[in-house]
Amino acid sequence: MEYKRSSELFASAQKVIPGGVNSPVRAFKAVGGDPVFIKKAEGAYLFDEDGNKLIDYINSWGPLILGHAHKPVIDAVIDIAKKGTSFGTPTEIETKIAELAVKMVPNIDKIRMVNSGTEATMSAVRLARGFTGKEKIIKFAGCYHGHSDSFLIQAGSGAVTFGTPNSPGVTQGTAKDTLLAKYNDLASVEALLDANKDDIACIIVEPVPGNMGCIPPANGFLEGLRELCDANNTLLIFDEVMSGFRLAPGGVQERLNVNADIACFGKVIGGGLPVGAFAARNEIMDYLAPVGPVYQAGTLSGNPLAMAAGLAMLTELDNNRGIFESIDKKTKYLHEGMEKALSANNVDFTINRIGSMISVHFGKEPVTDFESAANSAGLGTFNKFFHGMLENGIYIAPSAFETWFISDALSYEDLDTTIKVVDRVAKT
Ligand code: PLP
Repeated sequence: MEYKRSSELFASAQKVIPGGVNSPVRAFKAVGGDPVFIKKAEGAYLFDEDGNKLIDYINSWGPLILGHAHKPVIDAVIDIAKKGTSFGTPTEIETKIAELAVKMVPNIDKIRMVNSGTEATMSAVRLARGFTGKEKIIKFAGCYHGHSDSFLIQAGSGAVTFGTPNSPGVTQGTAKDTLLAKYNDLASVEALLDANKDDIACIIVEPVPGNMGCIPPANGFLEGLRELCDANNTLLIFDEVMSGFRLAPGGVQERLNVNADIACFGKVIGGGLPVGAFAARNEIMDYLAPVGPVYQAGTLSGNPLAMAAGLAMLTELDNNRGIFESIDKKTKYLHEGMEKALSANNVDFTINRIGSMISVHFGKEPVTDFESAANSAGLGTFNKFFHGMLENGIYIAPSAFETWFISDALSYEDLDTTIKVVDRVAKT
Protein backbone atom coordinates (compact mmCIF):
# COMPACT_ATOMS: atom_id res chain seq x y z
CA MET A 1 0.00 0.00 0.00
CA GLU A 2 1.19 3.51 -0.86
CA TYR A 3 1.05 6.30 1.70
CA LYS A 4 2.64 9.02 -0.42
CA ARG A 5 -0.01 11.72 -0.05
CA SER A 6 -0.31 11.07 3.69
CA SER A 7 3.43 11.68 4.04
CA GLU A 8 3.18 14.90 2.02
CA LEU A 9 0.28 16.12 4.16
CA PHE A 10 2.20 15.20 7.31
CA ALA A 11 5.18 17.24 6.15
CA SER A 12 2.91 20.29 5.68
CA ALA A 13 1.16 19.70 9.00
CA GLN A 14 4.43 19.57 10.92
CA LYS A 15 5.25 23.10 9.83
CA VAL A 16 2.20 24.59 11.54
CA ILE A 17 1.03 22.03 14.15
CA PRO A 18 3.37 20.66 16.86
CA GLY A 19 4.39 17.22 15.66
CA GLY A 20 1.82 17.56 12.89
CA VAL A 21 -0.99 16.29 15.12
CA ASN A 22 -3.55 17.75 17.50
CA SER A 23 -3.26 14.83 19.92
CA PRO A 24 0.01 12.92 20.41
CA VAL A 25 -1.31 9.36 20.08
CA ARG A 26 -2.20 10.09 16.47
CA ALA A 27 1.46 10.43 15.57
CA PHE A 28 3.37 7.28 14.72
CA LYS A 29 6.35 8.44 16.76
CA ALA A 30 6.39 5.30 18.91
CA VAL A 31 6.10 2.87 16.02
CA GLY A 32 8.00 4.88 13.42
CA GLY A 33 6.81 6.21 10.07
CA ASP A 34 4.26 8.85 9.13
CA PRO A 35 0.65 8.84 10.31
CA VAL A 36 -2.11 8.05 7.84
CA PHE A 37 -4.32 10.98 6.85
CA ILE A 38 -7.96 9.96 6.58
CA LYS A 39 -10.27 11.49 4.02
CA LYS A 40 -13.54 9.78 4.89
CA ALA A 41 -14.92 6.77 6.69
CA GLU A 42 -17.94 4.54 6.52
CA GLY A 43 -19.01 1.64 8.75
CA ALA A 44 -15.96 -0.46 9.58
CA TYR A 45 -13.67 1.25 7.07
CA LEU A 46 -11.37 4.22 6.80
CA PHE A 47 -10.47 5.62 3.40
CA ASP A 48 -7.20 7.53 3.39
CA GLU A 49 -5.83 10.33 1.23
CA ASP A 50 -3.94 7.83 -0.96
CA GLY A 51 -7.12 5.88 -1.73
CA ASN A 52 -6.34 2.97 0.61
CA LYS A 53 -9.20 1.23 2.41
CA LEU A 54 -8.42 0.18 5.98
CA ILE A 55 -10.38 -1.96 8.45
CA ASP A 56 -10.58 0.21 11.56
CA TYR A 57 -9.91 -1.09 15.09
CA ILE A 58 -9.53 2.35 16.66
CA ASN A 59 -12.89 3.88 15.82
CA SER A 60 -11.78 7.37 16.80
CA TRP A 61 -10.36 5.90 20.04
CA GLY A 62 -13.66 4.45 21.14
CA PRO A 63 -16.66 6.67 20.40
CA LEU A 64 -17.78 4.95 17.20
CA ILE A 65 -19.18 1.77 18.69
CA LEU A 66 -21.59 1.44 15.72
CA GLY A 67 -18.99 2.30 13.11
CA HIS A 68 -18.24 5.43 11.09
CA ALA A 69 -20.80 7.83 9.65
CA HIS A 70 -23.63 5.92 11.31
CA LYS A 71 -26.76 7.20 9.57
CA PRO A 72 -29.00 8.04 12.57
CA VAL A 73 -26.13 10.02 14.15
CA ILE A 74 -25.26 11.87 10.94
CA ASP A 75 -28.92 12.67 10.22
CA ALA A 76 -29.46 13.99 13.74
CA VAL A 77 -26.43 16.28 13.46
CA ILE A 78 -27.41 17.62 10.04
CA ASP A 79 -31.01 18.27 11.15
CA ILE A 80 -30.05 20.19 14.25
CA ALA A 81 -27.19 22.13 12.62
CA LYS A 82 -29.71 23.78 10.29
CA LYS A 83 -31.36 25.35 13.34
CA GLY A 84 -28.16 26.90 14.69
CA THR A 85 -24.95 25.59 16.18
CA SER A 86 -24.91 27.04 19.68
CA PHE A 87 -27.19 29.27 21.77
CA GLY A 88 -25.55 29.49 25.20
CA THR A 89 -28.97 28.85 26.74
CA PRO A 90 -30.61 25.69 28.03
CA THR A 91 -32.13 23.49 25.30
CA GLU A 92 -34.62 20.63 25.53
CA ILE A 93 -32.24 18.12 23.98
CA GLU A 94 -29.88 18.47 26.96
CA THR A 95 -32.62 17.22 29.27
CA LYS A 96 -33.48 14.41 26.85
CA ILE A 97 -29.95 13.01 26.74
CA ALA A 98 -29.60 13.46 30.52
CA GLU A 99 -32.85 11.54 31.11
CA LEU A 100 -31.69 8.73 28.88
CA ALA A 101 -28.23 8.52 30.46
CA VAL A 102 -29.74 8.50 33.95
CA LYS A 103 -32.08 5.70 32.85
CA MET A 104 -29.26 3.61 31.32
CA VAL A 105 -26.59 4.01 34.01
CA PRO A 106 -27.22 2.56 37.46
CA ASN A 107 -26.74 4.58 40.61
CA ILE A 108 -26.85 8.10 39.14
CA ASP A 109 -29.54 10.76 39.55
CA LYS A 110 -28.02 13.67 37.67
CA ILE A 111 -25.43 14.20 34.95
CA ARG A 112 -23.48 17.28 33.82
CA MET A 113 -22.29 17.55 30.22
CA VAL A 114 -18.83 18.84 29.35
CA ASN A 115 -16.73 18.83 26.17
CA SER A 116 -14.20 16.04 26.71
CA GLY A 117 -13.24 13.14 28.92
CA THR A 118 -10.49 15.32 30.40
CA GLU A 119 -13.01 17.91 31.53
CA ALA A 120 -15.21 15.18 32.99
CA THR A 121 -12.50 13.64 35.18
CA MET A 122 -11.01 17.00 36.14
CA SER A 123 -14.42 18.30 37.22
CA ALA A 124 -15.27 15.05 39.02
CA VAL A 125 -12.15 15.33 41.14
CA ARG A 126 -12.90 18.96 41.99
CA LEU A 127 -16.39 17.93 42.98
CA ALA A 128 -15.05 15.09 45.14
CA ARG A 129 -12.65 17.48 46.85
CA GLY A 130 -15.39 20.04 47.45
CA PHE A 131 -17.84 17.44 48.68
CA THR A 132 -15.45 15.71 51.09
CA GLY A 133 -13.40 18.75 52.10
CA LYS A 134 -10.23 16.69 51.52
CA GLU A 135 -7.40 17.38 49.08
CA LYS A 136 -5.42 14.30 48.08
CA ILE A 137 -6.46 11.78 45.45
CA ILE A 138 -5.35 8.25 44.64
CA LYS A 139 -4.86 7.15 41.05
CA PHE A 140 -3.33 4.03 39.57
CA ALA A 141 -0.09 3.79 37.62
CA GLY A 142 -0.86 3.28 33.94
CA CYS A 143 -4.39 4.66 34.14
CA TYR A 144 -5.04 7.68 31.94
CA HIS A 145 -7.71 10.18 32.88
CA GLY A 146 -7.04 12.88 30.30
CA HIS A 147 -4.39 15.55 30.31
CA SER A 148 -5.24 17.77 33.27
CA ASP A 149 -2.37 18.37 35.68
CA SER A 150 -3.43 16.11 38.56
CA PHE A 151 -3.54 13.07 36.30
CA LEU A 152 -0.24 13.34 34.46
CA ILE A 153 1.47 11.30 37.13
CA GLN A 154 2.47 7.84 35.86
CA ALA A 155 -0.22 8.24 33.22
CA GLY A 156 -0.94 5.64 30.56
CA SER A 157 -1.87 6.03 26.88
CA GLY A 158 0.10 8.63 24.88
CA ALA A 159 1.88 9.82 28.03
CA VAL A 160 3.62 6.49 28.48
CA THR A 161 3.88 5.81 24.74
CA PHE A 162 5.99 8.96 24.41
CA GLY A 163 7.94 8.39 27.61
CA THR A 164 6.40 11.24 29.60
CA PRO A 165 4.10 9.60 32.15
CA ASN A 166 4.99 12.51 34.45
CA SER A 167 4.79 15.63 32.32
CA PRO A 168 7.00 18.68 32.76
CA GLY A 169 4.76 21.63 33.50
CA VAL A 170 2.88 19.87 36.29
CA THR A 171 3.94 21.64 39.47
CA GLN A 172 5.30 19.74 42.43
CA GLY A 173 2.51 21.27 44.46
CA THR A 174 -0.07 19.61 42.24
CA ALA A 175 1.83 16.34 41.93
CA LYS A 176 2.12 15.90 45.68
CA ASP A 177 -1.66 15.65 45.99
CA THR A 178 -1.86 12.72 43.57
CA LEU A 179 -0.88 9.47 45.24
CA LEU A 180 -0.07 6.43 43.15
CA ALA A 181 -1.33 2.92 43.70
CA LYS A 182 -0.88 -0.28 41.71
CA TYR A 183 -3.84 -1.49 39.67
CA ASN A 184 -5.27 -4.84 40.83
CA ASP A 185 -3.41 -4.48 44.15
CA LEU A 186 -5.69 -3.56 47.04
CA ALA A 187 -2.83 -3.65 49.54
CA SER A 188 -1.17 -0.72 47.74
CA VAL A 189 -4.38 1.30 48.10
CA GLU A 190 -4.85 0.36 51.74
CA ALA A 191 -1.29 1.45 52.53
CA LEU A 192 -1.90 4.89 50.98
CA LEU A 193 -5.20 5.31 52.82
CA ASP A 194 -3.56 4.34 56.12
CA ALA A 195 -0.64 6.70 55.61
CA ASN A 196 -2.93 9.61 54.67
CA LYS A 197 -5.78 9.18 57.14
CA ASP A 198 -8.59 11.72 56.57
CA ASP A 199 -6.79 13.31 53.59
CA ILE A 200 -8.03 11.30 50.60
CA ALA A 201 -10.95 12.90 48.77
CA CYS A 202 -11.29 10.19 46.15
CA ILE A 203 -9.88 7.18 44.41
CA ILE A 204 -10.12 7.56 40.65
CA VAL A 205 -9.80 4.45 38.54
CA GLU A 206 -10.44 3.20 35.04
CA PRO A 207 -12.53 0.27 36.28
CA VAL A 208 -11.39 -1.59 33.18
CA PRO A 209 -8.19 0.14 32.10
CA GLY A 210 -7.68 0.54 28.38
CA ASN A 211 -4.71 2.87 28.50
CA MET A 212 -1.98 0.33 29.28
CA GLY A 213 -3.62 -2.05 26.84
CA CYS A 214 -6.81 -3.61 28.12
CA ILE A 215 -6.58 -4.99 31.66
CA PRO A 216 -9.56 -6.74 33.24
CA PRO A 217 -9.92 -6.15 36.99
CA ALA A 218 -8.99 -9.13 39.19
CA ASN A 219 -11.86 -10.76 41.05
CA GLY A 220 -12.76 -8.63 44.04
CA PHE A 221 -10.55 -5.67 43.11
CA LEU A 222 -13.31 -3.17 42.35
CA GLU A 223 -15.44 -4.48 45.22
CA GLY A 224 -12.40 -4.01 47.48
CA LEU A 225 -12.00 -0.40 46.33
CA ARG A 226 -15.68 0.18 47.12
CA GLU A 227 -15.21 -1.18 50.66
CA LEU A 228 -12.04 0.82 51.26
CA CYS A 229 -13.75 4.02 50.10
CA ASP A 230 -16.73 3.39 52.37
CA ALA A 231 -14.47 2.71 55.33
CA ASN A 232 -12.47 5.91 54.76
CA ASN A 233 -15.19 8.41 53.76
CA THR A 234 -13.54 8.62 50.37
CA LEU A 235 -15.42 8.87 47.09
CA LEU A 236 -14.89 6.25 44.40
CA ILE A 237 -14.70 7.73 40.90
CA PHE A 238 -15.06 5.35 37.96
CA ASP A 239 -13.52 6.85 34.86
CA GLU A 240 -15.80 5.18 32.32
CA VAL A 241 -14.72 7.39 29.43
CA MET A 242 -13.76 4.23 27.52
CA SER A 243 -15.95 1.62 29.19
CA GLY A 244 -19.15 3.68 29.54
CA PHE A 245 -21.97 2.71 27.15
CA ARG A 246 -19.54 0.11 25.74
CA LEU A 247 -19.08 -2.73 28.23
CA ALA A 248 -22.80 -2.57 29.04
CA PRO A 249 -25.55 0.06 28.65
CA GLY A 250 -24.68 1.13 32.19
CA GLY A 251 -20.92 0.63 31.82
CA VAL A 252 -18.80 -1.24 34.36
CA GLN A 253 -21.15 -0.33 37.20
CA GLU A 254 -23.73 -2.52 35.50
CA ARG A 255 -21.47 -5.15 33.95
CA LEU A 256 -19.53 -5.94 37.13
CA ASN A 257 -22.18 -4.77 39.58
CA VAL A 258 -20.05 -2.37 41.60
CA ASN A 259 -21.29 1.12 42.39
CA ALA A 260 -19.12 4.20 42.04
CA ASP A 261 -19.86 7.52 43.72
CA ILE A 262 -19.09 9.53 40.59
CA ALA A 263 -18.96 8.12 37.05
CA CYS A 264 -17.18 9.94 34.21
CA PHE A 265 -18.06 9.52 30.57
CA GLY A 266 -16.76 10.54 27.16
CA LYS A 267 -16.32 8.93 23.74
CA VAL A 268 -19.54 6.88 23.07
CA ILE A 269 -21.78 9.39 24.86
CA GLY A 270 -20.88 11.97 22.20
CA GLY A 271 -21.38 9.72 19.18
CA GLY A 272 -18.13 11.08 17.69
CA LEU A 273 -18.62 14.73 18.65
CA PRO A 274 -16.69 16.38 21.49
CA VAL A 275 -18.59 15.39 24.64
CA GLY A 276 -17.77 14.30 28.16
CA ALA A 277 -19.98 14.00 31.21
CA PHE A 278 -19.88 13.20 34.89
CA ALA A 279 -22.72 11.88 36.97
CA ALA A 280 -23.58 10.90 40.53
CA ARG A 281 -26.43 10.69 42.98
CA ASN A 282 -28.29 13.88 43.96
CA GLU A 283 -26.44 14.72 47.15
CA ILE A 284 -23.12 14.86 45.28
CA MET A 285 -24.31 16.49 42.03
CA ASP A 286 -26.19 19.19 43.94
CA TYR A 287 -22.83 20.31 45.29
CA LEU A 288 -22.18 21.77 41.82
CA ALA A 289 -22.82 25.36 40.78
CA PRO A 290 -25.34 26.90 40.38
CA VAL A 291 -26.98 24.86 43.20
CA GLY A 292 -23.87 24.18 45.25
CA PRO A 293 -20.49 25.77 45.86
CA VAL A 294 -18.23 23.77 43.51
CA TYR A 295 -17.72 25.78 40.32
CA GLN A 296 -17.75 24.14 36.90
CA ALA A 297 -18.81 25.63 33.57
CA GLY A 298 -18.42 25.58 29.76
CA THR A 299 -19.33 27.95 26.90
CA LEU A 300 -20.08 25.04 24.57
CA SER A 301 -21.14 22.45 27.17
CA GLY A 302 -24.37 20.75 26.07
CA ASN A 303 -23.80 22.00 22.52
CA PRO A 304 -26.81 21.10 20.34
CA LEU A 305 -24.83 19.26 17.66
CA ALA A 306 -22.95 17.23 20.22
CA MET A 307 -26.13 16.47 22.17
CA ALA A 308 -27.95 15.41 19.00
CA ALA A 309 -25.14 13.01 18.08
CA GLY A 310 -24.98 11.64 21.62
CA LEU A 311 -28.74 11.29 21.91
CA ALA A 312 -28.98 9.44 18.58
CA MET A 313 -26.19 7.10 19.68
CA LEU A 314 -27.56 6.37 23.15
CA THR A 315 -31.10 5.95 21.81
CA GLU A 316 -29.91 3.29 19.41
CA LEU A 317 -27.92 1.50 22.12
CA ASP A 318 -30.86 1.66 24.50
CA ASN A 319 -33.36 0.40 21.92
CA ASN A 320 -31.13 -2.40 20.61
CA ARG A 321 -29.46 -3.88 23.62
CA GLY A 322 -28.45 -6.89 21.51
CA ILE A 323 -25.68 -4.65 20.15
CA PHE A 324 -23.67 -5.22 23.35
CA GLU A 325 -23.90 -8.99 22.98
CA SER A 326 -23.10 -8.71 19.28
CA ILE A 327 -19.86 -6.71 19.75
CA ASP A 328 -18.78 -8.93 22.63
CA LYS A 329 -19.23 -12.00 20.41
CA LYS A 330 -17.29 -10.39 17.57
CA THR A 331 -14.47 -9.51 19.96
CA LYS A 332 -14.36 -13.09 21.29
CA TYR A 333 -14.25 -14.40 17.68
CA LEU A 334 -11.34 -12.08 16.90
CA HIS A 335 -9.57 -13.09 20.12
CA GLU A 336 -9.84 -16.80 19.33
CA GLY A 337 -8.77 -16.31 15.72
CA MET A 338 -5.74 -14.20 16.62
CA GLU A 339 -4.81 -16.61 19.40
CA LYS A 340 -4.75 -19.51 16.91
CA ALA A 341 -2.78 -17.54 14.32
CA LEU A 342 -0.15 -16.29 16.78
CA SER A 343 0.22 -19.69 18.49
CA ALA A 344 0.58 -21.49 15.14
CA ASN A 345 3.50 -19.16 14.37
CA ASN A 346 5.20 -19.58 17.77
CA VAL A 347 4.86 -15.92 18.72
CA ASP A 348 5.01 -15.10 22.46
CA PHE A 349 1.85 -13.17 23.26
CA THR A 350 -0.87 -12.45 25.79
CA ILE A 351 -4.30 -11.29 24.70
CA ASN A 352 -6.48 -9.49 27.25
CA ARG A 353 -10.17 -9.01 26.59
CA ILE A 354 -13.30 -7.90 28.31
CA GLY A 355 -16.43 -7.20 26.28
CA SER A 356 -15.45 -5.24 23.18
CA MET A 357 -12.09 -4.07 24.54
CA ILE A 358 -9.11 -6.24 23.59
CA SER A 359 -5.34 -5.86 23.38
CA VAL A 360 -2.40 -7.95 22.21
CA HIS A 361 0.81 -7.91 24.24
CA PHE A 362 3.98 -9.50 22.95
CA GLY A 363 5.18 -11.28 26.05
CA LYS A 364 4.22 -14.54 27.75
CA GLU A 365 3.48 -13.28 31.26
CA PRO A 366 -0.02 -12.24 32.35
CA VAL A 367 -0.63 -8.50 31.96
CA THR A 368 -2.40 -7.31 35.09
CA ASP A 369 -0.99 -3.86 35.86
CA PHE A 370 1.27 -1.13 34.52
CA GLU A 371 4.51 -2.94 35.35
CA SER A 372 3.52 -6.16 33.63
CA ALA A 373 2.09 -4.18 30.69
CA ALA A 374 5.41 -2.36 30.29
CA ASN A 375 7.40 -5.60 30.66
CA SER A 376 5.22 -7.43 28.16
CA ALA A 377 4.89 -4.62 25.68
CA GLY A 378 7.46 -6.31 23.42
CA LEU A 379 7.90 -2.96 21.75
CA GLY A 380 10.15 -4.15 18.91
CA THR A 381 7.72 -6.92 18.06
CA PHE A 382 4.72 -4.64 18.49
CA ASN A 383 6.12 -2.10 16.06
CA LYS A 384 6.70 -4.77 13.41
CA PHE A 385 3.23 -6.15 14.06
CA PHE A 386 1.68 -2.68 13.75
CA HIS A 387 3.37 -1.95 10.42
CA GLY A 388 2.63 -5.43 9.09
CA MET A 389 -1.05 -4.94 9.89
CA LEU A 390 -1.10 -1.48 8.31
CA GLU A 391 0.63 -2.69 5.15
CA ASN A 392 -2.16 -5.24 4.86
CA GLY A 393 -4.99 -2.78 5.40
CA ILE A 394 -5.65 -3.21 9.12
CA TYR A 395 -5.57 -0.06 11.25
CA ILE A 396 -4.77 -0.67 14.94
CA ALA A 397 -3.56 1.86 17.51
CA PRO A 398 0.06 2.92 16.92
CA SER A 399 1.00 2.05 20.50
CA ALA A 400 1.32 -1.08 22.60
CA PHE A 401 -0.36 0.79 25.45
CA GLU A 402 -3.83 1.09 23.96
CA THR A 403 -6.87 -1.11 23.75
CA TRP A 404 -8.50 -1.94 20.43
CA PHE A 405 -12.12 -0.81 20.13
CA ILE A 406 -14.45 -3.16 18.31
CA SER A 407 -17.40 -1.64 16.49
CA ASP A 408 -20.60 -3.42 15.55
CA ALA A 409 -20.02 -2.34 11.95
CA LEU A 410 -17.27 -4.98 11.65
CA SER A 411 -18.56 -8.03 9.79
CA TYR A 412 -17.35 -11.58 10.39
CA GLU A 413 -15.75 -11.33 6.97
CA ASP A 414 -13.75 -8.30 8.20
CA LEU A 415 -12.73 -10.28 11.27
CA ASP A 416 -11.65 -13.25 9.12
CA THR A 417 -9.63 -10.92 6.90
CA THR A 418 -7.98 -9.48 10.01
CA ILE A 419 -7.16 -12.92 11.42
CA LYS A 420 -5.61 -13.95 8.08
CA VAL A 421 -3.48 -10.81 8.15
CA VAL A 422 -2.39 -11.57 11.73
CA ASP A 423 -1.31 -15.02 10.51
CA ARG A 424 0.56 -13.54 7.54
CA VAL A 425 2.29 -10.92 9.70
CA ALA A 426 3.15 -13.49 12.39
CA LYS A 427 4.86 -15.66 9.75
CA THR A 428 7.27 -12.88 8.97
N1 PLP B 1 -10.31 8.90 30.60
C1 PLP B 1 -10.04 7.82 29.87
C2 PLP B 1 -10.21 6.47 30.48
C3 PLP B 1 -9.61 7.95 28.55
O1 PLP B 1 -9.32 6.87 27.85
C4 PLP B 1 -9.48 9.25 28.01
C5 PLP B 1 -9.03 9.43 26.63
O2 PLP B 1 -8.65 8.54 25.94
C6 PLP B 1 -9.78 10.35 28.81
C7 PLP B 1 -10.20 10.15 30.10
C8 PLP B 1 -9.67 11.74 28.26
O3 PLP B 1 -10.67 11.97 27.35
P1 PLP B 1 -10.49 13.13 26.24
O4 PLP B 1 -9.41 12.67 25.34
O5 PLP B 1 -11.85 13.19 25.60
O6 PLP B 1 -10.16 14.38 26.97
